[in-house]
Amino acid sequence: MNTIELYKELPKTNCGDCGQKTCMAFAIAIIKGSSTLQMCPHLDINTLDRLSSSVTKLDVTESMFDKLKEETAKLDLIKAAPAVGAAIMPDGITIKCLGKDFTVRHDGSVETDGTVNLWIKILLLIYIKTGDASEPANDWVSFDRLKMGIVKIGAFKKECEIPLTGMFIKDYQSAVAAIKSLGAVEAEGQPSTAAWKLYLLPKIPVLILYWQGDEEFPSEVKVLFDSTAERYLDIESLVFLLRELTIALGEFPA
Ligand code: SF4
Repeated sequence: MNTIELYKELPKTNCGDCGQKTCMAFAIAIIKGSSTLQMCPHLDINTLDRLSSSVTKLDVTESMFDKLKEETAKLDLIKAAPAVGAAIMPDGITIKCLGKDFTVRHDGSVETDGTVNLWIKILLLIYIKTGDASEPANDWVSFDRLKMGIVKIGAFKKECEIPLTGMFIKDYQSAVAAIKSLGAVEAEGQPSTAAWKLYLLPKIPVLILYWQGDEEFPSEVKVLFDSTAERYLDIESLVFLLRELTIALGEFPA
């Protein structure tokens, strides 16, 4: 169970009784292991039972992170920094992800201002481990044209492009302000009504294309990837990264 799946099971009233400001923050805290389901007093016993067994599976996530952390501690992060577009700091390296700076320390720990989602930590360590020294090719392709994209195209549409389309239809100005807050810049010469280039990670730019609907065709958002994207992250991680993008945009104040 991931953050979104857990969030869907919560009351979504953002009452704050669990000590978190929102139900989404609570879901993230559960995944991270800093809160327990019992801290939400509004979950009935059946839901608690059902979710508890799923949350146990998240321990796998913890061990995945511990393993990656161990592997990262053996790397020379200073040498790895240029290949992944990171800045060298006295205590490790800093990588910008979804508009936010994350510090990866020499012991493999990951920190930022505020709470860090455990999956983001995992994703950053995979990115450091996988990334090579090549540069993006500036050759844009749809998700299903990535090498393994066809395998995950359903999840990608459902969890990324469809929610993004919904955000643009609901409030275009807010959606634009939200992607710009993450560092997106307008991209010229695209076939869509509007387009923005956004670096999700230093070597993983995406093009977000928006078509304004009319009587014949509905509005639509498409996300294009640089053709080299899988050199830096596997396909599952790319879906996760885009899912995190939709969460970050959804949390942007309207
Ligand atoms: S107590 Fe439950 S309903 Fe209230 S914000 Fe926390 S998770 Fe959401």
